[in-house]
Amino acid sequence: MEFTIEKGKLYMLQTRSGKRTAAAALKVAVDLVEEGLITKQEALLLVDPRQLDTLLHPTFEPNALKAATPIAKGLPASPGAATGHIYFTAEAAAEAAKAGQKVILVRQETSPEDIEGMYAAEGILTSRGGMTSHAAVVARGIGTCCVAGCADALISESAKNMIIGGKTYNEGDFISLDGSTGNIYGGELPTEEPTLTGDFATLMEWADEYRRLAIRTNADTPRDAQQALDFGAEGIGLCRTEHMFFEEDRIPAIREMIVARSEDERRKALAKLLPLQKSDFKAIYEVMGDRAVTIRLLDPPLHEFLPHTDSDIRALATDMGLTFEELKSTVDGLQEMNPMLGHRGLRLAITYPEIAEMQTRAIMEAAVEVRQEKGFNILPEIMIPLVGEVKELKFVKDVVVKTAEAVLEEKGVKIDYEVGTMIEVPRAALLADEIAKEAEFFSFGTNDLTQMTFGFSRDDASKFLDDYYEKQIFDSDPFARVDQKGVGKLMRMAVDLGKSTRPDIKLGICGEHGGDPSSIEFCHSIGLDYVSCSPYRVPIARLAAAQAQIKDDLGK
Ligand code: PEP
Ligand code: MG
Repeated sequence: MEFTIEKGKLYMLQTRSGKRTAAAALKVAVDLVEEGLITKQEALLLVDPRQLDTLLHPTFEPNALKAATPIAKGLPASPGAATGHIYFTAEAAAEAAKAGQKVILVRQETSPEDIEGMYAAEGILTSRGGMTSHAAVVARGIGTCCVAGCADALISESAKNMIIGGKTYNEGDFISLDGSTGNIYGGELPTEEPTLTGDFATLMEWADEYRRLAIRTNADTPRDAQQALDFGAEGIGLCRTEHMFFEEDRIPAIREMIVARSEDERRKALAKLLPLQKSDFKAIYEVMGDRAVTIRLLDPPLHEFLPHTDSDIRALATDMGLTFEELKSTVDGLQEMNPMLGHRGLRLAITYPEIAEMQTRAIMEAAVEVRQEKGFNILPEIMIPLVGEVKELKFVKDVVVKTAEAVLEEKGVKIDYEVGTMIEVPRAALLADEIAKEAEFFSFGTNDLTQMTFGFSRDDASKFLDDYYEKQIFDSDPFARVDQKGVGKLMRMAVDLGKSTRPDIKLGICGEHGGDPSSIEFCHSIGLDYVSCSPYRVPIARLAAAQAQIKDDLGK
């Protein structure tokens, strides 16, 4: 505070917020309440939710960071600091990590096949893709530092090197990444592990007293689900089932399903997947107990599951008893000019209803068995993605309901389940009153909704968005913060229309925006019931949701 006293009179000249670390901000807020100087509500408003990130992830040792100069900058896709030896394939990264090395996985972009290397890495660097690219989404989910879309890094996976500013970094060289700023450093920078103090737990408890929004998580594995519960999540808002298909024991069956030439062959492959998928769901239900679990039916285009290089196709063809030419023509036939607008989402279930049948059976059988074995009262919410037209939703919903009822009949039990949809195609928002007649819940898939509303590819927009910031057309990334004016208008419309035909419709969001404080405030204001975000953003969401309610209460 700056003040002056003139002729016995006190003048306040200006005030500014004192800069403080996240730990200090928490301590100040909690101490001020305990000393009776401010209310809990005021204390909750004193902490910036985004600051909590630094408490949950490693940071660079401050003096080392001060002395370091970044060699390049990418998108701050997943917070934290990481240092390690670079590797250019998931296999090499996983192997080096197994041998005890700290590893940074460097890829032009990642795909679901890279998951093992991503788990093994301290940090992930990509040269392509934005805030909702595969690397960014997965890294946030597993709490791993990630710098994405760094166009200045010329990455050659085949030559196993990367050139930044004219300097070549080879496999095994050290680099360091700051996923909170997007900065990349050459060499090794020491990191410090996070420490969670008692003040953190106190502030989180206070946040829970005030917030109206429920906080769920996006989790596809029991490990992520447990992490989210430890951070205070109250349910799963999105389980992306496709991520389960990339593990070694199931990829052969899913590939067999894709290359099947008849429904019969496809059903045979699906029968192999059923027990695996069921055991995945059981493991997740067991972690989640009585909490709601939203499971989404298969969403990505099928070619993502197939090999792409001739040598991989040849190897798979031998495994599957096919000729190289046969398999190659199947792979080529599945290529699309624009896969994000192609044969994906519920369109797959329209063509192949047996996929939705298998997944529904796995979801329901797992729920019945876990209920019988553990006594949990599980409420499966089966979510149908990428709907744009009520008749397509009805078609897939009929398959789901018929299968679910058949399972319950076979097992001779009755459990509740819900069938709902994602609002991620603008047409679904425009026709939400019709859609709501067939959907017990809506979950806003704002990654796709943003992509389709702006017409910006979520995987390529980072290449030109910098020009938009520089020319002051945008001041933030619409894939990170909800564009309230446009995308938000569609969301508000969908909420109102949905409630007009189904007043008790359950409403949530599971796009990446569900973990962004200003977007959470917006979700609160349009009356959603919950937000769902990656596990490491759950504490941020708890605080942001409390702040939204407190601002309402205090009329701010
Ligand atoms: C979305 O589109 O917002 C979403 C959650 O689905 P995905 O990111 O898997 O497309
Ligand atoms: Mg989507």
